[in-house]
Amino acid sequence: MKRPLPILVFSDLDGTLLDHNNYSWSAAKPGLQRLAEIGTGVVLASSKTAQEIIPLRDAMGQADMPAIVENGAGILWPGNADVGEDDYPRLRALLKKLPQGFVGFGDMTIDEVAQKTGLSSQQANLARQRKFSEPGVWTGSDVDLAEFLEAARAHGLYARKGGRFLTISFGQTKADAMREVVRHMRPVRTIALGDAPNDIEMIQAADQGVVVANPHGPNIPPFPAPVEARVLRTQQSGPQGWSDAILTLTADFR
Ligand SMILES: [Mg+2]
Repeated sequence: MKRPLPILVFSDLDGTLLDHNNYSWSAAKPGLQRLAEIGTGVVLASSKTAQEIIPLRDAMGQADMPAIVENGAGILWPGNADVGEDDYPRLRALLKKLPQGFVGFGDMTIDEVAQKTGLSSQQANLARQRKFSEPGVWTGSDVDLAEFLEAARAHGLYARKGGRFLTISFGQTKADAMREVVRHMRPVRTIALGDAPNDIEMIQAADQGVVVANPHGPNIPPFPAPVEARVLRTQQSGPQGWSDAILTLTADFR
């Protein structure tokens, strides 16, 4: 019988496994190496599209792991570049009915997306290939934003503030996708790492949560006491904090 997976790690990318400023994950290598030694890996869980995640997942040596794309709206299974059904045209059509002020990736040129994200034009092109959700920026007043959010809700849309963008979707979270991956892979224990409010459900749903420090973004406030008791908060930000946490939490494994 195949030995059950001892640990399965779910991790946000931007500001967590990737450095907020330069998108590097090199400081996380010791932690990734440790997971490989244990015989497990990382389920990348990000607002990124499947097309953006595939090359990163390969580069990190995680090609045989599933990945959670577009903030939980879709799952990319190993060896499968197709994420299936596409909500994007319906989402874009609904956004056009809402009060103006939200500028989504679909409204921007590749160069504008590159400028807003700090990605190269090539990477920005992949970030625009969306299937389930629309990240963007709010250009109006706070009062207008409240009105926009209210109208979005009335149309069955959900708005989430990530580290840098407001993302509109039909409401599936990273935790919903995480539960589906857990049902499929049946790990003994789960660890989830994130840095921003769009990671809260995933961190809460894990056996062990990790809040990676992010001095650039909105913080994750303390959880209710029983949850906070199983959450580790890192000192270092980004991939360094990520790696430190993985090494600490796997210290007892051989
Ligand atoms: Mg993040």
